[in-house]
Amino acid sequence: MAVPKRKVSPHRRGIRRSHDALKVEAFHECNNCGELKRPHNLCPHCGFYNGREVVAVGL
Ligand SMILES: [Zn+2]
Repeated sequence: MAVPKRKVSPHRRGIRRSHDALKVEAFHECNNCGELKRPHNLCPHCGFYNGREVVAVGL
């Protein structure tokens, strides 16, 4: 089994973990209903995308 040659130093470990932080998810107001939605995704509230109804919601 492959095994690390030496212990990873706290500094090295910190460098590795520098990319691990979670970012706040992107969101934007829907142009149709004003609900918050993810950009480039159809609105889960009204089913609109780019000014037209793509999916019927709440039927
Ligand atoms: Zn909407």
